Amino acid sequence: MNSSDVINTTHQVQLQARFVGAALGTFVGDTLGMPVEGWSRKRIKERFGWLTDLQPGRLPAGHYTDDTEMMIGLWETLVSCGNLDPAVAAANFLRNYHPERGYGGRIQGVMTRLAQGADWQDVGTDSFGNGSAMRVAPVGCFFSRNLDLVKHKALISCEITHKHPQARAGAVAAAVATAMALEAGMSGRTKNPETFLPVIIELIRGLDEPSAQKMAALSDIQGGDPASLAEQITRMYRCNVMSMEAVPPALASFWYTDSFSDAVLLAVNLGGDTDTIGAMAGAVAGAYYGVSSIPEEWLAGLENGPKGRDYVIDLATRAVTMSWSATVPQV
Ligand SMILES: [Mg+2]
Repeated sequence: MNSSDVINTTHQVQLQARFVGAALGTFVGDTLGMPVEGWSRKRIKERFGWLTDLQPGRLPAGHYTDDTEMMIGLWETLVSCGNLDPAVAAANFLRNYHPERGYGGRIQGVMTRLAQGADWQDVGTDSFGNGSAMRVAPVGCFFSRNLDLVKHKALISCEITHKHPQARAGAVAAAVATAMALEAGMSGRTKNPETFLPVIIELIRGLDEPSAQKMAALSDIQGGDPASLAEQITRMYRCNVMSMEAVPPALASFWYTDSFSDAVLLAVNLGGDTDTIGAMAGAVAGAYYGVSSIPEEWLAGLENGPKGRDYVIDLATRAVTMSWSATVPQV
């Protein structure tokens, strides 16, 4: 083994930690938020104080919802095609579809049309929801070396279900944030919003100006303890199913905290669309800090059936060697 092999091996190991971190980060954030989905911040506070562990809800503790299920479909696509083929992604979404995991009504319609044999290009809705942003972490990881490519592929993944400009902007923002977090983590750079925000805003401005303005408002957030951050974020954002009200809170939860745990716990304690905001915060935090940052007790509590924890780890691991991110590292 020569020195460049050593560099490449180290690079692959670090990359794998972040691919798996983003995948399991989505999974963990989704399952932490699942039991309190739709609750207000106040109700969560009254019931749990500060929610910190996997609780049962409409699904058993540690079970994932539509966010993770659709993310799995994108990983499967990238692993089988070496690219984001939307026809394959749509077929994977349909094959994995379990309505009891909590899909929105519009996505149920998409699945019905796909099941009837409609083409992927003809099934999407005009939804401005966060459903395309919640699942997009694999795209950010896979193409992380080229942010224009991340944007392009995120838009293709979005098109299958969401055609509204706000949903498109949200998917791009979440994917680009994941890619930038991964690259920052790989090179040991800090994750402050001053470096991330201008890039993300520039990439979404042409897609949807209101989304870009909502994203830019993030820089008004002052630091503080988790309760203070939750107060500030919920004053600025509705934290609901709207893409532009959910993506910025997820990114704020990552940027204004200092660990994977603090990021996802802040996200799910905001209230509102907690599973999705948790999933998106977990994706970005996992891509930055890597899988070793995810508490063992959470990983141990994740469902592990046919498409559970081990399957997700295997998919994300296999994606590394095929990805654009796996090329020789920048030195
Ligand atoms: Mg969900």
